[in-house]
Amino acid sequence: MTNALYLQDSYLKECNATVVSVKEGKYVVLDQTIFYPRGGGQPWDTGTVIKEDETYNVVYVGKFSGVISHEVDHAGLRKEDTVRCVLNWERRYKLMRSHTAAHMFASLLCKGTGALITGNQLEEDKVRFDFSLEKYDREILDTYIHESNALFKKNIPVKWYELPKEEALKIPGIVKMAKALPPDIPKLRIVEIVGLDKQADGGTHVKNLKEVGQIELLKTQNKGKNNRRVYFQIV
Ligand SMILES: [Zn+2]
Repeated sequence: MTNALYLQDSYLKECNATVVSVKEGKYVVLDQTIFYPRGGGQPWDTGTVIKEDETYNVVYVGKFSGVISHEVDHAGLRKEDTVRCVLNWERRYKLMRSHTAAHMFASLLCKGTGALITGNQLEEDKVRFDFSLEKYDREILDTYIHESNALFKKNIPVKWYELPKEEALKIPGIVKMAKALPPDIPKLRIVEIVGLDKQADGGTHVKNLKEVGQIELLKTQNKGKNNRRVYFQIV
């Protein structure tokens, strides 16, 4: 089992690792990693894996039956190699800012309107949200964008930790996705914007709301009351 270092410290930009296995020359499993695998609406990390003077580009990271697999751009890595992992930090940090921004915006929108999130995808340059809402107009969204931005100017810590599942599920709003079933695991990872929001989440976040910056509404789409769509970006 790979030690997923990004779950404890999302600010780690480099680490050493040992190659556990290599499939078809380019699917690499490591004993520990800083690369986030695609999942939970957050895209995978990119970067490089370096062995001595040879650099392998990490083009995709996924989780398959619980195993984190790094796809590299060419063959050459072997089992038991010692490597240095280096994250494309610019991409990851932007995704961290977007992810925390998405939690704050969703929290305000859900609490304020009773909306349920029906879909959510972070992209490198924008965030997409789908939600169910009876009454829908641009003004409502502007209100919550504005409220979020006011909070992003404040010094409010964000932290993450594990809780036993039973305990976690007693927290109101801990799962904001409509129809989301809690995973079949004894502990849930919680991401808490202190005093404002708690969500079950496996993603990477910034440790203070101030790091987010500001968000800006890009466009809205109306696909029926269960499928209002909004795009925003961080600026
Ligand atoms: Zn999340």
